[in-house]
Amino acid sequence: MVNQDPTNPSHALFDQFVQSQTCKEVQRTFSELCHHLQLDPRDYQSFYTKLKERLNYWKAKALWIKLDKRAQHQDYQQGKVCAKTKCLVLGAGPCGLRTAIELALLGAQVVVLEKRDSFSRNNVLHLWPYTIYDLRGLAAKKFYGKFCTGALDHISIRQLQLILLKVSLLLGVEVHTGVEFKGFVEPSEATGCMCFSSICMSFSPGFRWKELRGKLAIGITCNFINHHSAAEAQVAEISGVARIYNQKFFQDLLTEKGIDLENIVYYKDATHYFVMTAKKKSLLKMGVIKQDFSDANQLLGQANVDQDALLRYAHGAAHFSTGHRLPNMQFALNHAGQPDVAMFDFTCMHRAENASLVRERKGKKLLMGLVGDCLVEPFWPLGTGIARGFLAAFDTAWMVRSWGKGKPHLEVVAERESIYQLLSQTTPENINKNYSAFSIDPATRYQHVNLNSIKANQLQHLYDVEDHIDLGRPTKKQKGLSTFEELLKWCQQHTAGYDRVKVKDLTQSWRSGLALCALINTFRPHLIDMSSLKESDSVHNNQLAFSLLEGELGIPPIISASDMATKEQIDKLSMVLYLTQIHDAFNERTP
Ligand code: FAD
Repeated sequence: MVNQDPTNPSHALFDQFVQSQTCKEVQRTFSELCHHLQLDPRDYQSFYTKLKERLNYWKAKALWIKLDKRAQHQDYQQGKVCAKTKCLVLGAGPCGLRTAIELALLGAQVVVLEKRDSFSRNNVLHLWPYTIYDLRGLAAKKFYGKFCTGALDHISIRQLQLILLKVSLLLGVEVHTGVEFKGFVEPSEATGCMCFSSICMSFSPGFRWKELRGKLAIGITCNFINHHSAAEAQVAEISGVARIYNQKFFQDLLTEKGIDLENIVYYKDATHYFVMTAKKKSLLKMGVIKQDFSDANQLLGQANVDQDALLRYAHGAAHFSTGHRLPNMQFALNHAGQPDVAMFDFTCMHRAENASLVRERKGKKLLMGLVGDCLVEPFWPLGTGIARGFLAAFDTAWMVRSWGKGKPHLEVVAERESIYQLLSQTTPENINKNYSAFSIDPATRYQHVNLNSIKANQLQHLYDVEDHIDLGRPTKKQKGLSTFEELLKWCQQHTAGYDRVKVKDLTQSWRSGLALCALINTFRPHLIDMSSLKESDSVHNNQLAFSLLEGELGIPPIISASDMATKEQIDKLSMVLYLTQIHDAFNERTP
């Protein structure tokens, strides 16, 4: 018999979980629900089934119907196809979480790491029709009643993350927030780890990016509090107005406020959200940007932006573009408690050269893939972030499925790269229109997809194997380091003979900065005069080494120079990552 007792604690906990409005609350209510139902969330293979059995609640049933419909799709082969695959997803942004959900449906063990411990982005994402359909299929409306009601086609980033986090947890995904991924530790004989596939989002060794440089484009986003009054409800949204289509609007804005824009978008969501691209000349004239620089980083650097003038500029544009009808326009606050206004450089967009690769060390294989913004950076005013991000999430899941089915590794990569060719050309118009048939199978989504347009033999360079002689690469491929001992040995070898330098370990021996300077001196003697360095001047020595390594090799520091010199404990994993990057860079670049 169905238990409909509203005082049933597990029902109440389930309701709280569904309605939770912060990342922490979602995690807390989920953990309490599991505890109450005596469920172990790490039991990923049967978690969802057991949850359904134990939570006999009519409200939950409506949710299970939706999720079951998705889970029963033939592509997932009842969650058996990747039952032996372990996946690590880096970043709990919308695309990371959407990927995690698909991997869980394939039956994989999925762990998500997210460095932040809250979801705080008010900014609003434009959703293509297929993404709305997709999210409805994941019961978005059950978690967020206002999801795309009527003609609405947008959602705030944080609300979307909350929905996807809830679905992920219900499907047995393990999510750790406040945990930053710093790098991989390669398997040694001793670790005996198995085949491991990972979806690597933001820190991605081995991947390269192309820079797509357009004409200078400065984006401004701002959010105002939505008081949900009748007057606010009357104000029409602007789903995108560009200069070429409405010259008069932009001319009037310039005349009345001195604000010169290329385009503007306004969405009424949890906040009143505006995104616009502004002309540099008017930003300079209105005192938002203090000084003109050709370098965009310098131009938009904190020191060169007058924050109050930026607030006035954004407010003026928002006020004018809504016909002065938005009453009581107060800025919403961002994660730092400041008015939520930001200025971004869209001049340079990045696109990964490839979407996948395989690393093999000591016979253990790691499949890596990129999804979301780190695969193809979106131009926000066009709203491509989620639409292309979700397509890539599905494509990545398809790749993991092929891997799980035992397809030869380079063929898996070749198929993924063939599909990736299509991503940047996708528009709401040219993807398939039968959204109900969409699945992780690319043929259901893209028109004219050719899974074999790139051949495995063209992609040898994407199979990174120890001792692998890669004839396709211009640089000499050196043997990689597999253990801490090998790394230590390499460091000792290349710092031997330097006065006051004795490398005994991967932490304390580096404190004075002299060992790092010695390492640099070995490979680039002209950069450092070792005789000028004092052992007691450790902050200076470390700063010098960090700056040279960043400037010359592009390796960012992992710790501040003063922390390195004074902090009680130096984090070993961070040092291993840092020194490995130095090893790889010197080995790659030394003829
Ligand atoms: P993201 O949403 O950026 O998620 C990546 C996640 O990875 C983040 O949560 C981050 O904390 C986490 N992370 C990063 N490094 C690590 C690490 N080492 N270890 C663990 N976790 C890590 N799009 C729009 O359409 N309109 C907008 O107005 C808009 N504003 C934006 C404002 C900001 C500040 C940002 C960052 C993005 C904005 N975007 C906007 C882009 C939009 O958010 C993305 O297209 C969309 O969220 C999909 O991105 P994603 O999941 O690929 O990446």
